[in-house]
Amino acid sequence: MTDILKEKHQLFVTFMSFHEELLKTQVKTMQHLIAIIPFQKLNGINAAEKLNHGESLISSQNFLLEDKDVEHVFDQLLPVIKKYHPSDDLNRLEDLYDKRRINLRTLAIATVQHDVHTFKNLGEKYDLPDHFLEKVSELLASPYLELCSEFFMKAIAANKWNRHTCPVCGNHPRMGSTNDLQNRRLLWCHVCSTEWEFELTTCPFCLNDDPKSIKYIFPPDHSAHRIDACDNCNHYIKIIDAAMTSTQSNFTIDYLSTFPLDVIAIQNGYHL
Ligand SMILES: [Zn+2]
Ligand SMILES: [Zn+2]
Repeated sequence: MTDILKEKHQLFVTFMSFHEELLKTQVKTMQHLIAIIPFQKLNGINAAEKLNHGESLISSQNFLLEDKDVEHVFDQLLPVIKKYHPSDDLNRLEDLYDKRRINLRTLAIATVQHDVHTFKNLGEKYDLPDHFLEKVSELLASPYLELCSEFFMKAIAANKWNRHTCPVCGNHPRMGSTNDLQNRRLLWCHVCSTEWEFELTTCPFCLNDDPKSIKYIFPPDHSAHRIDACDNCNHYIKIIDAAMTSTQSNFTIDYLSTFPLDVIAIQNGYHL
């Protein structure tokens, strides 16, 4: 194996180890949250009405985690992130947290706000890169949002959500699966693991449906995975072609194990 291949292999192994530890931590955190958060309060949300109006179900008004709950999530996540991705930004965030100069709940709620200025404003306020805060925000909110997704699973299935963003947290999908016979795609939210159906060929970022500007990039290993990229907005989504695989897909596992596809997409000029 050449040095470059060895280095690529090591990067992939480290990436998978990091996410394996992260997933274990998130499962433990979800077990903690399910025991203490009054999820029955979510029954107060008229899910059918919200979904029919195209509104995602969780917003800052029904984000049930209190400050101490989000701090618990952060305390669990911090050692794992520090172990694999130590950085000056992380040290600064920890320092702000220790000195009680940052409100982590506000940061977690930013994941469901979808105001383009939210992370920019937070970044300026805390002197941290907005993309770093966005990632931390997702990690802080994800265990709660995944439990919300389970809570609303039946309501989402019954109300035929057909939008390009997640019906629970409002984020854009990062992965999907397709079976051309059904002329539909199943999309998956990496923040809360919600799945929903959407049109087969429409870009789930800018809603472009011109077939000439949707590119399909196939990996060299001829696996059942591919990239659907949009030349209108330059976003991409990873797709599992269900017709090419007999195994049941697990979006979380497939999303992580297809990390090399992200590298290919970025090398081709696309981004998330
Ligand atoms: Zn979501
Ligand atoms: Zn697009």
